[in-house]
Amino acid sequence: MRKPDPEAPLCDCDHLWQCSKDPENPIIFDAEMNEFHLKYGSHSIMIYYCHFCGGRAPADSKRASRFTEPTVTERIRLMELTQNIKTLDQALEILGPPDHDFPVGESWTEPAKDDQPETTVFYRNLSYHHLSDTAEVRVRVYPTDRVQFRFVSKYVRPEKNKS
Ligand SMILES: [Zn+2]
Repeated sequence: MRKPDPEAPLCDCDHLWQCSKDPENPIIFDAEMNEFHLKYGSHSIMIYYCHFCGGRAPADSKRASRFTEPTVTERIRLMELTQNIKTLDQALEILGPPDHDFPVGESWTEPAKDDQPETTVFYRNLSYHHLSDTAEVRVRVYPTDRVQFRFVSKYVRPEKNKS
């Protein structure tokens, strides 16, 4: 998938700022993330480019630095730790009790097409935070008790919330 170009010229006009100051305008500024968002109802989407000058926005999103980045060595270590675990029982035996157990940890909806109705699938997720400093280990549990692993960057709390 094509991603926003980090080398694109920055927005150097004031337009997004001006919009965000207007309470009637759906463009808001998220000061914590240092990002502009387009708000609709209870949802919001991140704005990557200024709609006036076409420049990249904002100047310095803090998003990237808010998540850990597991090293290649760490990913390999986690892969080796989990590669032989195929069932829920094996996961619990080898990894121990999870830090969180989400009965509906994941869901996605397949849109209707041809003669197939819209379908939504749910999976139980187990989450382990203590297995790695830089990755949360997420276990997808299939209804057959088969499991699948993925390693997710951990969220880094902003400095100001540390005390
Ligand atoms: Zn601009």
